[in-house]
Amino acid sequence: MAGIYIHIPFCRKRCHYCDFFKSTDFSQKSRVLAGIRKELESRAAELNSEEITTIYLGGGTPSALLIDELKDLLTTIQQNYRVSATAEITMEANPDDLSQAILSAIREIGFNRLSMGVQSFAESDLKLMNRRHGVMQALQSVKWAKRAGFSNISIDLIYGLPNQTLEEWERNVRIAVELDVQHISAYNLTYHEGTVFYDRLKKGILKELPDELSLQQFELLIRLLKEAGFEHYEISNFCRPGLYSQHNSSYWKSKKYLGAGPSAHSFDLHSRRWNVSSIGKYLQGLEKDEPYYEVEVLTEQDRYNDYIITGLRTIWGISEELIKTEFSANYLLHFQDKMKKYVQSGHVLGTPEKLTLSSEGLFISDQIMADFMVVESC
Ligand code: SF4
Repeated sequence: MAGIYIHIPFCRKRCHYCDFFKSTDFSQKSRVLAGIRKELESRAAELNSEEITTIYLGGGTPSALLIDELKDLLTTIQQNYRVSATAEITMEANPDDLSQAILSAIREIGFNRLSMGVQSFAESDLKLMNRRHGVMQALQSVKWAKRAGFSNISIDLIYGLPNQTLEEWERNVRIAVELDVQHISAYNLTYHEGTVFYDRLKKGILKELPDELSLQQFELLIRLLKEAGFEHYEISNFCRPGLYSQHNSSYWKSKKYLGAGPSAHSFDLHSRRWNVSSIGKYLQGLEKDEPYYEVEVLTEQDRYNDYIITGLRTIWGISEELIKTEFSANYLLHFQDKMKKYVQSGHVLGTPEKLTLSSEGLFISDQIMADFMVVESC
């Protein structure tokens, strides 16, 4: 079982908070798509024996592509990989790119899951974030998507925005629930270096929301979505029972995935690989058969730390039993020491087969993960 991720590195406009790799210059679009197809063909042997159970088009903005371009990418995957008949095939989409006809076409060419960048249901927030769409476009897009036959729709929201009150955030969550989608991802705003928000923060134009208020927003999110019947299966992710993002879950469960396109990452259980975050260097590498990626072979310490960070984020948790069998004794001792501390404090719950963060633990998850991690070789 493995997944394929494709990074479409183009956006029509830069959102002020976003640090994903992207370009607003579409002049190289055809070459990049040809490059991605070539990469997919040339790397097929890496997943030769694997059944592909998830495909995910992210970015950037996949919905900025034409239907034929999207179709060509899926066809390349189908022709070169063993794709399961029941594969989850997700596409990220921005509401401003969508219409009823476009969504019907996206569904028809094979996508069965849609992840929509909604971010907020307040026009002022959308303006502040430099989003291209308006609230009505987001609401309408979800309706169109349902009418087009999508029965697995996810929306992204952001909380912790400058000046965002608890009441404003509550309104966002309630509208999201009313939309009756199957999946909601909600992220606390991060001020990434290199973004407009980061510059404005440094210049004092924007003020970070107090931690206490962000935490209240997170608590409210969890409470309202649980009341509405959503499962909180990962720190930032909620779904209708059982409707997890299978693709993202495979990252958290340390499954193999192959990432194609500029800046895309891959993981084969033993090493991580990442493509260069440059359209020019990516194209040059593919066209002249020069390296366009770097590889890092994982040490035992890397594998242990990855296991802790990804496992503790989810309801599937971490297992002392697995640490016993997969890692050397020093890692087990380190783990048991931390586990004892957090089980006693009530931040970690469960049995040795499955340990997860309690609701108190969720709110200080970064701190707990950092403590569980090994920074010097055991
Ligand atoms: S948030 Fe999405 S649409 Fe906005 S710049 Fe980032 S990748 Fe592009």
